[in-house]
Amino acid sequence: MRLVTRAQWGARAYRTPNGATPYSRPRRGVKLHYLGTAYSDRPHDQCAAYVRQLQAQHMDGNGWSDVGYSFLICTHGYVYEGRGLSRRNSANGNTSLNEQDYAVCLLVGSSGLTKPTDAQLDGARDAIDYCRTKGAAGTWLGGHRDGYATTCPGDAIYAWAKQGAPRPKTTTPEKGPDMTDEQLFKAVWKRDAIPAPSTSKTAKTNPTWKAESFLPETYDQTNRILDALREMAKDIAILRAEVAKLKMGA
Ligand SMILES: [Zn+2]
Ligand SMILES: [Zn+2]
Repeated sequence: MRLVTRAQWGARAYRTPNGATPYSRPRRGVKLHYLGTAYSDRPHDQCAAYVRQLQAQHMDGNGWSDVGYSFLICTHGYVYEGRGLSRRNSANGNTSLNEQDYAVCLLVGSSGLTKPTDAQLDGARDAIDYCRTKGAAGTWLGGHRDGYATTCPGDAIYAWAKQGAPRPKTTTPEKGPDMTDEQLFKAVWKRDAIPAPSTSKTAKTNPTWKAESFLPETYDQTNRILDALREMAKDIAILRAEVAKLKMGA
């Protein structure tokens, strides 16, 4: 899990005593949220600023003691620590709902960017597991709309929650305008988790091997496979000719 701690995203100190209120009993599970406002995707180096802005909105606009959510997930799959595992959230609608479940918000809007990215679903899945293994969350999973009159977290995220929040099968990295070829390559390589290097017996212990070496290796291997296929095609043609001769003879 790519956790971004409060110190790392530059959180303001929460107000006491309310911001420090602990949960009084274990959580039933996790409720998912979205922003419910317009949201446009942005490069990851702007995500922390957005979370700070959201915290300011919750503290100065809503008068809350801290950002309302337990965790927030950006479209790049990073998990921002909000109230965290032990301080009661203020996002689920009322005190008893806040006590009942953790609140995890995916940075997705009701207009603009409205569908979570694969990386974001992966990050949300990480946060759910984190709440279960490191926090006191049970296996219940749902949305803000469960037991409270709201459309949050939107239909896409809600449907995903009700399927049990499966990890996306593959996260195909797309080349963004701020991404170099090397970054894209590394992202693809990381996704496919190819053992390094594929031709060496010392795969996982080769300290000098670099992800980039995979590209020429793949090229060489592909050529070897194509050569083998051509040989097989020739052999098959010969066999077919032999079979045809036999048929004629019979
Ligand atoms: Zn919500
Ligand atoms: Zn981000």
